[in-house]
Amino acid sequence: SSPDVRTVDVVVIGAGQAGLSTAWALARQGFAPESDFVVLDADDAPGGAWQHRWPSLTVGTTHRVHDLPGLPFEPDAGNPRAADAVPAYFARYERRFELPVHRPVRVSAVRRTDDDRFRVETDSGDWIARAIVNATGTWTRPFVPRYPGQEFFRGRQLHTVDYRSARDFAGQHVVVVGGGASATQLLVEISTVTSTTWVTRRPPVWREEPFDEDAGRRAVAMVEEAVREGRRPGSVVGVTGLLVSTPYIRDGLDRGVLDRLPMFDRITEDGVAWDPADGHEGRFIAADVILWATGFRAAVNHLAPLHLRGTGGGIRMDGTHVAGEPRIHLVGYGPSASTIGANRAGQAAARQLRRVLKEPGELPR
Ligand code: FAD
Repeated sequence: SSPDVRTVDVVVIGAGQAGLSTAWALARQGFAPESDFVVLDADDAPGGAWQHRWPSLTVGTTHRVHDLPGLPFEPDAGNPRAADAVPAYFARYERRFELPVHRPVRVSAVRRTDDDRFRVETDSGDWIARAIVNATGTWTRPFVPRYPGQEFFRGRQLHTVDYRSARDFAGQHVVVVGGGASATQLLVEISTVTSTTWVTRRPPVWREEPFDEDAGRRAVAMVEEAVREGRRPGSVVGVTGLLVSTPYIRDGLDRGVLDRLPMFDRITEDGVAWDPADGHEGRFIAADVILWATGFRAAVNHLAPLHLRGTGGGIRMDGTHVAGEPRIHLVGYGPSASTIGANRAGQAAARQLRRVLKEPGELPR
């Protein structure tokens, strides 16, 4: 039998911070839940990527999870796990605003139709939409760089998405790769139960003072410029550096576990190796585990049939929409890949979609 085909104005793909803020804003802009717009989410339960975060990531150790519009995030006292508290909040949010979230529904492809709409293909039938908002985040696309010899390593290699507990590594030497918040957090944690080595491509940027709003804006502006030019978006956090006064960083510095080595050149069967160069001798460190805390890419493979990617490796953007296509929005992408950024972008996208879809003749800003 042929799958159901349903017709709406807007399909939102993904129900994390980005998808939920967009859904809330679409309802405010006069789009009727279910008949005018739906949210399709691949996960079994509310929470976006937060439901999959490692258990030791608590509300207190996140940077900060900003409120979704219209309902404050009020986690229980006692520093609960982010993987419990945020999904509980999102579930409440979806109910409170009666958001039309369909799950689990995985979008496999989005294509243009002959009459210039979009066919959203899923494992639960298809939707036809006049516009789409992609809010699929990055969690499903962990990025692991390639190094010579990697395939011969006999130990365990894992990405942060697969990390569960430091105890899993007791008695093993762990090499942590990456210079961001995940790398440092996990390094400090793992070093309490076993020996570690930290390697990063560039020396970490230590920051004495909390990041002020101005510096935050400058960081976001840099990523904004990258996506306007169609380059691959870097992470906003990558620009902000690591705050020395953060308790876990302080602890790591005090215990000397945050002394980093430059990136190794090769992986062997039983460790990582640096070639001799520039007057430095070669070096080898035996390892049982390589933990790749090397970030993510945007989860946009299902958009491939739309041919959005340019020669710069990214998608050229104009605000929250694809340049030249005000009916395809990417929320939580590039400069809006933070909880606060996703909030703002969701609302901007919904306002623009009202103008584009409900006020014919008006050109988008
Ligand atoms: P997600 O939360 O990843 O949601 C995407 C949703 O899309 C998921 O529900 C998924 O099921 C769905 N989806 C994906 N693909 C498909 C598909 N093909 N079809 C249908 N549905 C699909 N940011 C902050 O602002 N503060 C923090 O403290 C913070 N801490 C972080 C800690 C870690 C360890 C990491 C990795 C990131 C952190 N971030 C933080 C960044 C954070 O991920 C984003 O700010 C934000 O939560 C991402 O929201 P999102 O809605 O874009 O994506």
